[in-house]
Amino acid sequence: MPNQSHVFPRHCHSHLPTVARGDGCYLYDTEGKAYLDACGGAAVSCLGHNYTPVIDAVTQQMQAMAYAHTSFFTSEPAEELATLLAAHAPGNLNRSYFVCGGSEAMEAALKLARQYALEKGQESRKYIVARQQSYHGNTLGALATGGNQWRRKPFEPLMVSTSHIPPCYAYRYQHAGESDDDYALRSANHLRLEIERLGSENVLAFVAEPVVGATLGAVPPVGNYFQHIRQICDEYGVLLILDEVMCGMGRTGSLFACEQDGIEPDILIAAKGLGAGYQPIGVMMCQESIYQTIAQGSGFFQHGHTYIGHPAVCAAGLQVVKSIVEENLPAQILHKGQLLQAMLVEAFGDHPHIGNIRGRGLFVGLEVVENKVTKDPFPRQQQVNKRIKQQAFANGLMCYPMGGTIDGSNGDHVLLAPPYIISEAELQTVVDILETSFAQVFA
Ligand code: PLP
Repeated sequence: MPNQSHVFPRHCHSHLPTVARGDGCYLYDTEGKAYLDACGGAAVSCLGHNYTPVIDAVTQQMQAMAYAHTSFFTSEPAEELATLLAAHAPGNLNRSYFVCGGSEAMEAALKLARQYALEKGQESRKYIVARQQSYHGNTLGALATGGNQWRRKPFEPLMVSTSHIPPCYAYRYQHAGESDDDYALRSANHLRLEIERLGSENVLAFVAEPVVGATLGAVPPVGNYFQHIRQICDEYGVLLILDEVMCGMGRTGSLFACEQDGIEPDILIAAKGLGAGYQPIGVMMCQESIYQTIAQGSGFFQHGHTYIGHPAVCAAGLQVVKSIVEENLPAQILHKGQLLQAMLVEAFGDHPHIGNIRGRGLFVGLEVVENKVTKDPFPRQQQVNKRIKQQAFANGLMCYPMGGTIDGSNGDHVLLAPPYIISEAELQTVVDILETSFAQVFA
């Protein structure tokens, strides 16, 4: 980073290297140091850093035409991408609204939910229920939806009120001796109680990540949790919005994460892996019935941004999804994910400070504890997650550690979300560097 930088960085006192180029799963800085990217930045770079088909698709689109406002034109990349997503999405989730990232997609989802309720004459529906320890973005509506206390606190006076039920988080909340089925039902019933407390006629939507990403560290649901959730939403006429910004687009071993839970949401959002880092894209998808209610009602969604449906952005998304489908990447992701989890269990199964290894596909989390028996975390002041990130980065590994795993304040985990194209040898290198880094941090 230059001494006289005028960039407003994420952290004012960090000294970051300057990135120069990417090749496969590696990024290189201007000094020539290599970094193995085991987290895709933040589960973004799923096709590695110089994937030619996507670069070519974006270049061709840019050469044909840079920008056309969506109030004047539709575009071939947007049409084709929407058709492709509709063909692969569960059920009738077949209308796509293209934006520039996850937070924008969440805002669009919340507003569509509200407008849909209004157009159905259900004006009283206004409350959003989400889960503690979730993240849905940093714009005010998305931030209000997320359940991470640390992120919410300073901005709470600016937020709409949202209620948060406990997540389905087996490592901490499943009782000893409780079956998966019993825990799934008990956990889902928090939603029923909250809807009844708020008055079902007042509840608009329930929002959840199928596999919880950054805040919990790749925590999948247990048993039939999401089937119970779907049933509860249906019973009370509450919309189910699934946030697949991190876990979608193949990351967990299916194009849509919720396919593995056997449910269809009313609205789904995706981003990150959809652009694979080649363009900033997000999508809000909805059921045809929701779209038709708007189409046959007011006739337009009262929303929009300057860059929605940008042709070059959609061209990137189109090629990414084509590549994922045509190269059958979900099957490879499942296989590599199993391999990665096996390598992690081998390396850290008996580690005194790794309490839990979990995940789905190439979306894996390690929960760090001070005491494996009591599951007590390290004191927050020790900043264990920060030290792991720094040490691994110094050792040439990019991983995604976070703090506040348990309650937004206490607990630490490390999230891994490597590119889908990672080789078995590179997976082993990830685990080896992590092992060295843990040894240095816990020495
Ligand atoms: N939802 C989830 C689950 C996320 O992980 C994120 C980002 O990390 C977002 C929404 C927000 O996406 P963006 O940072 O693209 O606005």
